[in-house]
Amino acid sequence: MSVERRPLISGNWKMHHNHFEAIRTIQRLAYNLSSADHDAVDVSVHPPFTDLRSIQTVLEADDIPIALGAQHCHWEESGSFTGEVSPTMLAKLNVSLVIVGHSERRQNFGESDEDVNRKVQAVLAQGMTPIVCVGETLEEREAGSTLDRVADQLSRSLTGVNRSQASSLVVAYEPIWAIGTGRTATPEDAQEVCSAIRRQVGEFWDAEAAGGLRIQYGGSVKPVSAPDLMRLQDVDGLLVGGASLDPDEFARIVAYRLVG
Ligand code: PEP
Repeated sequence: MSVERRPLISGNWKMHHNHFEAIRTIQRLAYNLSSADHDAVDVSVHPPFTDLRSIQTVLEADDIPIALGAQHCHWEESGSFTGEVSPTMLAKLNVSLVIVGHSERRQNFGESDEDVNRKVQAVLAQGMTPIVCVGETLEEREAGSTLDRVADQLSRSLTGVNRSQASSLVVAYEPIWAIGTGRTATPEDAQEVCSAIRRQVGEFWDAEAAGGLRIQYGGSVKPVSAPDLMRLQDVDGLLVGGASLDPDEFARIVAYRLVG
């Protein structure tokens, strides 16, 4: 089934930019993006928690059509979870997308597939879109187990998610060995995994859910690699880390369609 899927390009700022720097960055990004960019592509930024309110204020005051995103959250609405932020709190700031299960959170903070699943459900319950990250390690790729690893992460992440929520889901394929390393998956490898993700969603729900699912690729994306990745049949967007910190570089990625 062929369905029109709007591209989604997301900037994950990780632990960069205090709120003054964040305001300057978003203003510069807004200046760089044209109305043709916004007509063609959905754009989101995912700053640190301390920047969210400042960025929300700029986006809303200047009517800038960039979606506000978060980098993670807890699954509970409130409680004794020192240092955590709830999906309800994010929704109150008009956050519309939340990255869930980023490999840096899985590796550095021990997030399990079960935690990721709880977060996916909690984010959906607040009417926000989870960007569910999956991806293999270098050892898994070299052992030929990439597709099994990604399928396992995906099925554990989606357990208990209703068919009616499928259209509010984004999946990001991020090979761990490509994140922040300067190495990008080849277009062939990215396409192979992204098409497997779409097939799996089709088996999990149905062909319509698979056809509507937006799948991002992430891992050292730069302006020069974005056009080839965005040409792939099953890549509908990009999750960009390092290159999203520079609003000029990120805008060139968003304008991928203008290249050759
Ligand atoms: C990321 O943070 O999700 C990411 C893909 O980072 P980078 O683009 O720096 O590899």
